[in-house]
Amino acid sequence: MELWYTEKQTPNYGITAKIKETLYTATTPFQELAVIDTVEFGRMLVLDGMVQTTIRDEFVYHEMIAHPALTAHPNPKKVAVIGGGDGGVIREVLKHPSVETAVLVEIDEEVIRASQKYLPEIAGALQDPRVEILVTDGIQHIRDTKDEYDVILVDSTEPVGAAVGLFSESFYANIYEALTADGILVAQTESPLFNQQLIQASFAGIQKSFPITRLYVATVFTYPSGLWSFTMGSKKVCPLEVEREDIPALDTKYYNRAVHYGAFQLPNFVKELVVP
Ligand code: SAM
Repeated sequence: MELWYTEKQTPNYGITAKIKETLYTATTPFQELAVIDTVEFGRMLVLDGMVQTTIRDEFVYHEMIAHPALTAHPNPKKVAVIGGGDGGVIREVLKHPSVETAVLVEIDEEVIRASQKYLPEIAGALQDPRVEILVTDGIQHIRDTKDEYDVILVDSTEPVGAAVGLFSESFYANIYEALTADGILVAQTESPLFNQQLIQASFAGIQKSFPITRLYVATVFTYPSGLWSFTMGSKKVCPLEVEREDIPALDTKYYNRAVHYGAFQLPNFVKELVVP
């Protein structure tokens, strides 16, 4: 008998993956959590029925939410990842030698524990001495923080449950206050095909606080529609003004100098979402 996991990415469309084994399931105080081993993409973290990360394609998303901002910032020392309990974004942040402290602010401790046990390739960096783990609501943490972080990366679930507030204008305004004078925010802002209104609202919300706001994209194979967006808010530095020689050659599988610039070159149907 064959077992398949299907994620309905819209009420009328989805993806399906043949499963080798269900490794773990749990009902946490915040969501339904599962770790399944799939034939095509390897081990997969699923929250409330939605793919969060897979061994085979996680590098794209984790590299692309982290490196454009950490490269654009002149000297990122203290970085916060809001959400991100699988540890993948923290792993990429630590590839930048200037980073002294990487703070993970994850509301659900079970996600961290399950990722450390079943996805060590992704969560292993959480053991690094430069990492601080705060198990708390990212909304509250950012509200209580001022002039603290050089870069803040919002690696949240889709805007459901505890994550709804992570897409709000007030949250972005509080992030502005939590950032240092040349701070940079990057938020994952969903699919340019299926979530166009969310992208427009997030971009407008970030633009309300930040003088420089840029949308960029990457191909995340297991995310809804396969094309994914990120929105950057920057207090001082435009990511496209980074000199080519200042883009470090990092140990990456997707991000590189050309991709740093290319990601911001938007297809017309995406560009018209945010450029009047
Ligand atoms: N890369 C994935 C994506 O783009 O959908 C997200 C991965 S990560 C597992 C998302 C994490 O955000 C989850 O572990 C979830 O518990 C966490 N999260 C949701 N709302 C949160 C909040 N208000 N504060 C902190 N973490 C939150």
